[in-house]
Amino acid sequence: MTPEDRATRQAMIDTCRAMDARGINQGTAGNLSLRHGAGFLITPSSLPYDTMQPGDIVEMGWDGTYVGRRPSSEWRFHRDILKARTDMNVVLHCHSPYATSIACHHRTIPAFHYMVGVMGGTTLRCARYATFGTQALSDAALEALQDRKACLLGQHGQIALGKTLDAALWMAVEVETLARMYQQALVLGEPPVLSDDEMTRVIAQMTRMSYGLGPEEEGANDIARPRTPPT
Ligand code: 13P
Ligand code: ZN
Repeated sequence: MTPEDRATRQAMIDTCRAMDARGINQGTAGNLSLRHGAGFLITPSSLPYDTMQPGDIVEMGWDGTYVGRRPSSEWRFHRDILKARTDMNVVLHCHSPYATSIACHHRTIPAFHYMVGVMGGTTLRCARYATFGTQALSDAALEALQDRKACLLGQHGQIALGKTLDAALWMAVEVETLARMYQQALVLGEPPVLSDDEMTRVIAQMTRMSYGLGPEEEGANDIARPRTPPT
């Protein structure tokens, strides 16, 4: 393993540990993949993140063949998403409590808050239930992720995508935060939703301002400019 390879795998493990630290995952639930070489790297199945080592990360090809330990039981949806979504490099799956609670009711989160737009549309969809580790779950997830960077998985959890590990982690925390706010808002009844027209404006504004895209995806911000340092 080259030093560069080791660093990449360690960064994946650090992201998994950050899921635990941020309270969005539990035990050996969840998994993570990263586009790499002629395929992708993926976490092994059922191994606690706190003892995981770079050599435990599994290398997989698009044909499902692998090198190393037994890959995550969800390798099919990782492979299918990375294959279909060439705009993304990371697939993060976790069982974060609030997102999963909403997913247990098979509810799609509507545009009750403008931040739903950061996932790419007017809703955060919930994929239909299918047994974990199956092609049926992969098919359902891919459908729910159409034009989106995240989705809920019915009676299971959530999936968040990113160009980078940090961006995918950020998205997963955002999904969990929105799910928590939605659940709180529901205490007073079904909240009103923002219109499609308003969400179109929100998404355009987010694109224009590179809003919520993470520090590594900085874009043109035409609202504020850094002050020129005094000469
Ligand atoms: P793995 O340990 O096989 O990755 O499974 C965890 C999980 O969340 C299954 O959906
Ligand atoms: Zn799972």
